[in-house]
Amino acid sequence: MSLKLFNTLSKSKEVFNPINANDIKIYACGPTLYNNPHIGNFRPIIIFDILFRFLRHHYGKNAVTYVRNITDIDDKIIKRSQELATSTEDLVKSVKKIYQDNLSKLQILPPSYEPHATEYIPKMIEMIKSLVNKNFAYVSDNHVLFESKKYKNYGELSKLSLKDIISGARVEVANYKKNPEDFVLWKPSKDNEPSWASPWGEGRPGWHIECSAMIAELLGPTIDIHAGGLDLIFPHHENEIAQSSCYHNAKMANYWLHNGFINFKGEKMSKSIGNITIIDDLLKKVNPMIIKYSLLSTHYRQPIDFSDDLLNYSENIISKWRDYIFEPTEKVYDEEFIDSLNDDLNTPMALMRIQQIFAKIKKDPKNIGLLNTFNCCLDLIGLVPSYEKNELNLDNEFIENIIFRRNEAKKLKNFELADQLRAELLGKGILLEDTKDGTTWKKI
Ligand SMILES: [Zn+2]
Repeated sequence: MSLKLFNTLSKSKEVFNPINANDIKIYACGPTLYNNPHIGNFRPIIIFDILFRFLRHHYGKNAVTYVRNITDIDDKIIKRSQELATSTEDLVKSVKKIYQDNLSKLQILPPSYEPHATEYIPKMIEMIKSLVNKNFAYVSDNHVLFESKKYKNYGELSKLSLKDIISGARVEVANYKKNPEDFVLWKPSKDNEPSWASPWGEGRPGWHIECSAMIAELLGPTIDIHAGGLDLIFPHHENEIAQSSCYHNAKMANYWLHNGFINFKGEKMSKSIGNITIIDDLLKKVNPMIIKYSLLSTHYRQPIDFSDDLLNYSENIISKWRDYIFEPTEKVYDEEFIDSLNDDLNTPMALMRIQQIFAKIKKDPKNIGLLNTFNCCLDLIGLVPSYEKNELNLDNEFIENIIFRRNEAKKLKNFELADQLRAELLGKGILLEDTKDGTTWKKI
């Protein structure tokens, strides 16, 4: 079974065909670091991390370039830095520290690049200049605006017509705009706001051009997959497509992936953890893998009800794994598990399969060979409770001691105890083998 992904552009599940299987390019819109990230910021980060891991699994570790940006300049950052009487740089720096700590606790792989928007201002200016020269954009009252209707496929991602956009009041009307649906590429900064020199005066970029510039510079004109939250389809991604397509005269991305929202049910959240929506606060109270399991238990495109019940449900499952988590010694995957992920990253199905494998191991020690598969599958979706990982460096004396106790138990025909001791070692990754010369052991 080949990988299929739901493409927002075609509104259907499509077989994933990379442009170049040795050089796959993905971009996901990252957070705006004005405040400690919300759990909603982490749903795309977690699911697209799995996409990254899964593509590496399919195509090879060096075949995938994944860019997840950091927005370090925008209205919210400016407003909050002013409230805190600090610079935007210092605010972003302090939030980033917490963000990175959250990422590492949740065992998110570092992307290939994690660019900051402000590092790409020269590229943004170059792109805007080109769009003005090609007559896709115009200068008005120190602003540069993209004239949406000049891009003939405008609305192709959101399936909105210009009429829908205007009548739905989805756009801001301003006197410097030729048409209400036009969007800002560059705008003047106020006196106390960060600014950069440009051909249109001191100012700063609009939000949408940031991603287009980082993609152009780091990945090139056309990428395989562009990903982000559902709320970014319009206007952010629609505008990214318009400006990038006109600048490069090429399609921006072949597949567009969007994750659904997280709902918080006040009454359900109030029991033990309260209405915690900031991931850093939640991580202080809840084990990271429980949070991760909870978020993966619903398909990424569906809305998810985040609640105490969901966290308890996940904890109940994960706690049983405690003694069975090991660094796999060889890569063995379960076909059904892989096929679940092949089906538009169906993580609820994949988790169910992991549970089935686990149940088999528990049921019959003969299935111990599946322990590697179990751990490989967990590892592939980044669901490894490392702090609960067992030490594989058990000293020989400890193992020999248990073997001795087990032999004694067998002599006394206490087979229940003997089996228990065997299982105890198994739980720590040590497999006992009874031979005619006595009991030997090996790490699994
Ligand atoms: Zn973006």
